[in-house]
Amino acid sequence: MSDQRAEIIRGRLEVLRHAIDEWCRHYGRQPAAVRLLAVSKTFPASDVAAAAAAGQRAFGESYLKEALEKIAALRHLPLEWHFIGPLQSNKTRLIAEHFDWVQSLDRLKLAERLSAQRPADRAPLNVLLQVNISGEASKSGVALPELPALAEAVRRLPRLRLRGLMAIPAPSRDFGAQRTAFRALHQAYRMLQEKGLALDTLSMGMSADLEAAIAEGSTLLRVGTGIFGPRRPKTG
Ligand SMILES: *Cc1c(COP(=O)(O)O)cnc(C)c1O
Repeated sequence: MSDQRAEIIRGRLEVLRHAIDEWCRHYGRQPAAVRLLAVSKTFPASDVAAAAAAGQRAFGESYLKEALEKIAALRHLPLEWHFIGPLQSNKTRLIAEHFDWVQSLDRLKLAERLSAQRPADRAPLNVLLQVNISGEASKSGVALPELPALAEAVRRLPRLRLRGLMAIPAPSRDFGAQRTAFRALHQAYRMLQEKGLALDTLSMGMSADLEAAIAEGSTLLRVGTGIFGPRRPKTG
């Protein structure tokens, strides 16, 4: 790792944390209630190590093969790994074995596999249900009408711990439209809490819509570009 690259990552994290604190103050949120997930997909393990050295602990990955290489290379560090990419049946075993969180769960069949495949010597796998809040714009995510039944079924699986919801709204540069989409996810989250589910994580907000996400109650921001810069070509 070049010292210069590590310094850039450290500097971007510092700027980002400062901006998040300012937005929290502005919108009446507790900064401690808003966590940061560094999305390291396509970036090398050395970049993750640089962010970790700057105090970042939670990392998000979308491509399984690439993620497993980084997890293995960095196993000496106390990091928390989140799988945020598309889920398929043939990937669930390795995800259940190597990750701490899965944010992209949207089908009961995949949840059952993850629960059955979670190793006995690890804590239950933390999961978020990915919700499709923008309708046809995105193919993944459970539709809102089906969310309560899926949440009820997932909460009963012994080796999963349902922590909350995640969404990737259709991209918009309009602040009002960003807020409207995030508000819909927050309402679904509260509806499940009112049904008695003990949820504590609302994963929304990426580099381009962080302020709107904080304004609407996000507890977990997923930032890639804002920490690591433009994404590299996908490696696997
Ligand atoms: C890539 C990715 C991100 C990070 O996006 P940036 O715009 O680079 O911050 C966040 N969430 C998910 C699910 C992603 O796939």
